[in-house]
Amino acid sequence: MAVTRTFSIIKPDATRRNLTGAVTKMLEEAGLRVVASKRIRMTKEQAEGFYGVHRERPFFNDLVTFMMSGPVVVQVLEGEDAVKRNRDVMGATNPANAEPGTIRKELAESIEANSVHGSDSDENAATEIAFFFKPEEIVG
Ligand code: GDP
Ligand code: MG
Repeated sequence: MAVTRTFSIIKPDATRRNLTGAVTKMLEEAGLRVVASKRIRMTKEQAEGFYGVHRERPFFNDLVTFMMSGPVVVQVLEGEDAVKRNRDVMGATNPANAEPGTIRKELAESIEANSVHGSDSDENAATEIAFFFKPEEIVG
């Protein structure tokens, strides 16, 4: 299996509860390496642009407001089959449906405040990484 990259966000519910380290530890224990990381406050433009694919969904405005409600940590993760590896350790979108041992089952608050984002394909990973990082900010 090839070593690839994916894009992750530690969401405001997790930074607010001081869980940046706890989330990162679970990512690392799943075989992912943090090769870029920065703590930012998302602007409305960034939140709307990043989640543009969900613009027509009923929860879009709530989601944008939530993503701006506190600091987030954007990260590039590297590992074998990184997209799937990350999605597996994240768990289901709704923490109530997530498997034990996953980040969302163990740490998330709700279907919206679910602690982490992770890219869902290699193509989207590349787009999402480029949305937040310059190539020189990624140190493999
Ligand atoms: P993900 O890929 O597992 O993060 O899930 P989606 O891409 O389907 O949704 C993006 C994000 O929107 C989720 O991570 C949640 O934060 C939020 N979200 C998804 N479904 C719902 C919902 O039914 N209600 C609310 N309030 N937020 C949702
Ligand atoms: Mg998604």
